[in-house]
Amino acid sequence: MGGRGGPPIEADIYVVEVNCKLIKSKYCGRCCYNTEMPLAKIDIETIRSLSIPERRFVVWKGGLPRLRNIGGSCVFLDKDTNMCTIYPYRPIGCRLYPLVYVSGEGVTVDRLCPLREQVLKSITEEKKRLLISFLKRLEEDWGINIRL
Ligand code: SF4
Ligand code: SF4
Repeated sequence: MGGRGGPPIEADIYVVEVNCKLIKSKYCGRCCYNTEMPLAKIDIETIRSLSIPERRFVVWKGGLPRLRNIGGSCVFLDKDTNMCTIYPYRPIGCRLYPLVYVSGEGVTVDRLCPLREQVLKSITEEKKRLLISFLKRLEEDWGINIRL
């Protein structure tokens, strides 16, 4: 990825640290299968800056652009290793995962993630605020109303 520059500093603040490695060179990847990850404008711009056309990775659903699946997994997933092929440039929602917003529950850790219990113990109020700010960014970017 050398020579393309790093991801925007702005996106760099959105990070939840999770060790997703199962064994040598093999990652869990569960959250990258049948993804419905919504994308902010900055996510689309960042990935487009890699010379990847928007139509290759965006599908619209529920008023939001989302990551496209191919063969049941995110277009950017390497299924052999379950690694993200655009990891330094991955979308904000992927950086914050497994944090999710559940209506009536608020910010929590996705039940799909096998590391849920571990992450639940370590999650901070600051990280929760970052998820809320991401959702507000989606609202502003796409003119939708997410019931927070
Ligand atoms: S489901 Fe959880 S452990 Fe698995 S790749 Fe996603 S964040 Fe990591
Ligand atoms: S962009 Fe990367 S981290 Fe996000 S769902 Fe796709 S493969 Fe997973």
